[in-house]
Amino acid sequence: MKEGDEVVPGLNRVIGAFASRGLPIFFTRDWHPADHMSFRSRGGVWPPHCVQGTPGAEFHPGLRIPSTAVIVSKGDSRDAEAYSGFQGTDLGERLHSLGVDSIFLGGLTADYCVRESTLDALGAGFSVTVLKDCTRAVNARPGDGERAFADMSRAGARFETSSELIKQLASTQQ
Ligand code: ZN
Repeated sequence: MKEGDEVVPGLNRVIGAFASRGLPIFFTRDWHPADHMSFRSRGGVWPPHCVQGTPGAEFHPGLRIPSTAVIVSKGDSRDAEAYSGFQGTDLGERLHSLGVDSIFLGGLTADYCVRESTLDALGAGFSVTVLKDCTRAVNARPGDGERAFADMSRAGARFETSSELIKQLASTQQ
């Protein structure tokens, strides 16, 4: 997606602020087999994307990935879709075991993976803040992005910008 790149600078600033404070950072990624059920060749709705071990599955080259970050792969079995980073993964358990209760989340896309991850995280008892400037919607149908924000809000998600979060982190450190 064309505007996907625009999320990188804000995410990098938040990642930097979290890394310098020793806060846990998790990256989730689509990690599909070449014949994944979400692909059009198998009757799904998406063109082939994020095929395991190919350049299409790599993180954006400009994204800052600290050595301490945990990478969680999802959608890695051929017959199951996983928009949410919590679906079919141990992400929830890992966060709970670190004592995490609040999640700040961004990435692609607002109307699929961010929406589903947010709803799952809320359902698992986490407090969730979506970084508004750090996500973009596919908008396969016009208005999908706005509907996704409304759904997340109704489910209890909060929204703020990366700058607001960084300001809060700076003010709580003293
Ligand atoms: Zn996918």
